[in-house]
Amino acid sequence: MTISNQTPSDHDATQAFLDTLPELPPGERFRFACHPKVPCFNACCSDLTLMLTPYDVLRLRAQLGLSSRDFIARHALAAQAPDTGFPMLRLRMRDEIPGAPCPFVTREGCSVYPGRPGACRTYPLGRATKTGEAGEVLEQFFVVREPHCKGFEQDADWTSADWLKDQDLKEYNRHNDRYMLLLAQARQRQARLDQKQANMVFLAAFNLDAFRDFLVNTRLMDRLDMPEEAKAAALADESGRLEFAMDWLELALFGVERNLKKKA
Ligand code: SF4
Ligand code: SF4
Repeated sequence: MTISNQTPSDHDATQAFLDTLPELPPGERFRFACHPKVPCFNACCSDLTLMLTPYDVLRLRAQLGLSSRDFIARHALAAQAPDTGFPMLRLRMRDEIPGAPCPFVTREGCSVYPGRPGACRTYPLGRATKTGEAGEVLEQFFVVREPHCKGFEQDADWTSADWLKDQDLKEYNRHNDRYMLLLAQARQRQARLDQKQANMVFLAAFNLDAFRDFLVNTRLMDRLDMPEEAKAAALADESGRLEFAMDWLELALFGVERNLKKKA
């Protein structure tokens, strides 16, 4: 399995890779199934460069019952994108074991299956997105057909829309697209985040429980023009907080008041 989510530094490389693959036009079908009876079961859950988006971290933490701090300390490797300075997280493989398996793979399969990352769900498709003229997300799918993967010999076929639904990708793609828009804005401006800004992104995007404490302690939302219900939603659940985080970062980093405004 070739797994990656697009991050600032690998965005161009990911696009170049997808461009080499056959496109799966809307409505066209591909044959694939992955289950314990495929001869290669689990073979692909090792030695991966698996980038984690903020929503991946949110879902994995929820599945594991871990705080942001504990999840990142145990399971993530942090770096900064060389071009934009954006923080990046990668899932830490178990390098101490031959083959460097994913920490969550077991003989029975993925032990965090309901909270597995978006990239694991999307495979064997690759998804590329761009923004349309009205600001809508335009998506394109590709089939990542790797010779070792016997899933392509199984008796099940799908359109890209079927696959997205089966793998419960709607929320993943919604959150990830929002994050990718922020990264695209950073690349367009060709300005590298300073360390303080990078820490701010890390806190708001990847450290959502600490971000809640920050919001409460600094009363940041009182300085923003937002309804009380929206403030409550940002505090109440992490999905709402992540949405707020993206809007706030867009405002704080780039001065864009698309979804959020400072109080007059
Ligand atoms: S998270 Fe699950 S599906 Fe993804 S690589 Fe690890 S074991 Fe495999
Ligand atoms: S069928 Fe493909 S995705 Fe499933 S375990 Fe085998 S190599 Fe991995």
